[in-house]
Amino acid sequence: PETITVQELANRMAARQGEVIKALMKMGVMATVTQSIDADTAELVVEEFGHRVRRVADSDVEIGIEGVEDKDEDLLSRPPVVTVMGHVDHGKTSLLDALRTTDTAAGEAGGITQHIGAYQVKLASGAKITFIDTPGHEAFTAMRARGAAVTDVVVLVVAADDGVMPQTIEAIKHANAADAPVIVAINKMDKPGANPARVRQDLLSHGIVVESMGGDVQDIEVSALKKTNLDKLEEAILLQAEILDLKANPDRAAEGVVIEGRLDRGRGPVSTVLVQKGTLRKGDIVVAGAEWGRVRALLDDRNRTVAEAGPSMPVEVLGIAGVPEAGSPFVVVENENRAREISEFRQRKIKEHAVAGQTAARGTLDQMLA
Ligand code: GDP
Ligand code: MG
Repeated sequence: PETITVQELANRMAARQGEVIKALMKMGVMATVTQSIDADTAELVVEEFGHRVRRVADSDVEIGIEGVEDKDEDLLSRPPVVTVMGHVDHGKTSLLDALRTTDTAAGEAGGITQHIGAYQVKLASGAKITFIDTPGHEAFTAMRARGAAVTDVVVLVVAADDGVMPQTIEAIKHANAADAPVIVAINKMDKPGANPARVRQDLLSHGIVVESMGGDVQDIEVSALKKTNLDKLEEAILLQAEILDLKANPDRAAEGVVIEGRLDRGRGPVSTVLVQKGTLRKGDIVVAGAEWGRVRALLDDRNRTVAEAGPSMPVEVLGIAGVPEAGSPFVVVENENRAREISEFRQRKIKEHAVAGQTAARGTLDQMLA
């Protein structure tokens, strides 16, 4: 009994048969409802559906579903995950750097800022915000290409002295495609030529209607250089997060997405991951894309060792044997055999699909987010 029919698999997950077939197709497996698929493949499908898999015994594979869905009462508020977008030179990097200094621990000794692709600020109020801070934003591009939703809110940076430009418009399109609400940061307000009224007017013709013009998009006038109104921008993000009612179950095996992966000279492969569900802990066995390993250490964005990382927290993970691709999903599994199996399966699939090209939009999107 090392196989299961598509129909039976769909039944056990309480999923639509069509959705299961679609998931299989994405993995390169063509099957009809009455056809059987092998247990390894079935387990991957089960995971793709966000379910946990129970392996009864190594030789006797049976797919059982543990927590099919997180129960409402297990869901707790989580911090928003924010991506900053906008036209080149409008101040994305400057704004991300400035926002970072608003962290309550920013002045602490020993807290050396690390660029790990994402960081989290803890405000004086105790509220937290996660910012995706990947130069070139390969992760965002890759994740969008994979259809993974990582960003809750897009901060659209528009320079007050330059106005809406081609990459501003592109950013609006990406935010819309990702179904992420936009908050406009009208930057460079310190400049003599600043004209925020024109920015609002221009945005109007691109479907962004700010509050002062009768819409529901928040806009904040800031200066990344002078660090003015950063608190207002953060309040706007938190208000938006409240409206979105962002929640996750922290009390389950962790799942999330790889933001960045690199080979560190001293430490070997290092992955920055964003935890989306559950809590990641030292000692967990993780599969990230086609790579796997046991978590040897977790480090936060100030290079401090942490014991665990909950929903919306970015962490560096040591212990994964290779460098997973940005945008890959990661998941904690029960044992090493299981991790090895998934990794081998995925590596096989990657080889089979080596021809699959990158998205054509990559160049421009990378530029826009750099
Ligand atoms: P990015 O390409 O969007 O990441 O833009 P950068 O953050 O690299 O900023 C481009 C240029 O604008 C740099 O020279 C910054 O110093 C400058 N800049 C960014 N924010 C401000 C601001 O609020 N005021 C002024 N006057 N200059 C700014
Ligand atoms: Mg930049």
